[in-house]
Amino acid sequence: MIPLSGSVRAAIVAVGDELLLGHTVDTNAAWLGLELGTRGVLVVRRYTVSDESEEIAWAVRDAMRVAELVVVSGGLGPTPDDVTRDAVADLLGRPLQTDPDVLESIRVRFLEAGMQELPEPNKRVAQVPEGALKLPNPVGTAPGLVLETPESLVVLLPGVPRELRSIVDGSFDELLARRFSEHLPPTCSRTVHTSGIPESLLAQQVRGQLPEGAGVVTLAFLPDVRGVDLRFTVTSMEPAEAERRFDELERRLEPVLEPWRFYAKRGDLAEAVVEALRARSADLSVAESCTGGLVAKRLTDVPGASDVFRGGIVAYSNEAKIRHLGVDAVTLEEHGAVSAPVAEAMAAGAARVFETGAGIGVTGVAGPGGGSAEKPVGTVWYAAWFQDRVAVRGERFPGDREAVRERSAQAALLLLLRLLEGRATYQGPPRG
Ligand code: ATP
Ligand code: MG
Repeated sequence: MIPLSGSVRAAIVAVGDELLLGHTVDTNAAWLGLELGTRGVLVVRRYTVSDESEEIAWAVRDAMRVAELVVVSGGLGPTPDDVTRDAVADLLGRPLQTDPDVLESIRVRFLEAGMQELPEPNKRVAQVPEGALKLPNPVGTAPGLVLETPESLVVLLPGVPRELRSIVDGSFDELLARRFSEHLPPTCSRTVHTSGIPESLLAQQVRGQLPEGAGVVTLAFLPDVRGVDLRFTVTSMEPAEAERRFDELERRLEPVLEPWRFYAKRGDLAEAVVEALRARSADLSVAESCTGGLVAKRLTDVPGASDVFRGGIVAYSNEAKIRHLGVDAVTLEEHGAVSAPVAEAMAAGAARVFETGAGIGVTGVAGPGGGSAEKPVGTVWYAAWFQDRVAVRGERFPGDREAVRERSAQAALLLLLRLLEGRATYQGPPRG
């Protein structure tokens, strides 16, 4: 396939019965689409196929006709249903050979995991098609495999999202530059993370601030249930010049972005909260009802959070809120469990029980049942407590049970971050 009008075309082949049966949502293809897009590669087609060799071979052959880059996800593991390696090796006429380096690295991993011997099926992972390039997998055993043909570059990646991503993050820039350098203009990008403002509103405000557009910089809004990332991209520009343009654009957008933005290397708000606590030598505990531990999970997802996060209580019933968090029975009776005073008392209660400087409390109606006219599904009260100051908010979140819970956890973390920064909207002494 000869590149059209200077751009590189890609196709993604996602392999796995679980994707077809709906047990697993194909997040790999979506993620690859975004990643390739920022590198100037255009994804023109996607395939989803079962774990059968014929299906995989058909899709890869078809993909090679339309795309000069074919990325295959899944089926590189040790089990008998993992046949991608064999199917593609066969299709391209590249016999499989055991790679001693890969075999050794798998053996070492197994020894480190306390196993005496490498199980026979796992040795399959060390089989590499003749002439294939290996892409290091920092978090798993199966390396990525690259097969070059005159038409296309075929890249095989493991299906486990964490492995696929770390291989792409580590190797793709160099891989693409090597094969497609004449067709791929160098691109630079910067991402600004925001939370608490809907995409449409942010886009409107950004446009208001940039009446003549962003010049050569392309802006992309990348929303999900937790917030909106704003990505700046330029192509064919010296990195230093690109950085200067991004700085300038950020300065112009500062009034719009400032209330909503947060800084986090991996883009997770929980990281920013952990950092902010650390910077203030503060520690945190949480009290959760409708989120059932999600806030604690988000915090413990951050590596190294143990120096600031002490623990949490999931207090689902009124009884548990009274007994374990010291929420006043009369307050519960008068205001109901989903209310500002209860959210406040939960946050303060967590901080008292765990003896921490900061606390979070979340209580709400996640649905689909349990709503009322006064407190419909999606009604959530959350509070953040820090050094005897409290901020509390109530919101009605849209979406299903999972979305309401995700939004609640995110909003509670954001409120604590703003309180720590001294810019939460309501501050005062805790009530009741
Ligand atoms: P393993 O060594 O784990 O067998 P593999 O390369 O063979 O890795 P699969 O067996 O296809 O990969 O998938 C491994 C895991 O990754 C499964 O839990 C699967 O649900 C998940 N997974 C596979 N493909 C995708 C995808 N396209 N999007 C999201 N998750 C995926
Ligand atoms: Mg597998």
